[in-house]
Amino acid sequence: MISVKVTCRVCKGSHPADDFKLHYEFRQMVCPNCYSGKTQKLKEKEELAKKEVPQKPAGWDQVDDYLEKAARTKKQDEQKAQFTKIPGTDQVKCKCLSCKFSFKYNPFRKLPRTCPFCNADIPKLRTFSLL
Ligand SMILES: [Zn+2]
Ligand SMILES: [Zn+2]
Repeated sequence: MISVKVTCRVCKGSHPADDFKLHYEFRQMVCPNCYSGKTQKLKEKEELAKKEVPQKPAGWDQVDDYLEKAARTKKQDEQKAQFTKIPGTDQVKCKCLSCKFSFKYNPFRKLPRTCPFCNADIPKLRTFSLL
């Protein structure tokens, strides 16, 4: 037997028509989820989640949003590794910020490509910033 799917008018979900029951509060046929109060519970959960979203300060607009995002990405990049020039040489010392391991890094050959200790990616160092 093929059961026909019907859209529930309360939750807009589609369910087999056979499962629909008359709900005394909604005064209409509702799907099993709505009948058992599942939909109501889900809704309450959603409302609660909405309330927990921190309020943004007044005057906050899209530009601020963009700037904040840009600042955050920049920060993340800088946090991957830290480079220090070794005086009197072309070499730099790289400190991996994920495992705090320090090692020699060749900025011209861009080697090693990953941290020899934890294998974390080493961000590309702009060599001109060292010259
Ligand atoms: Zn429903
Ligand atoms: Zn590492």
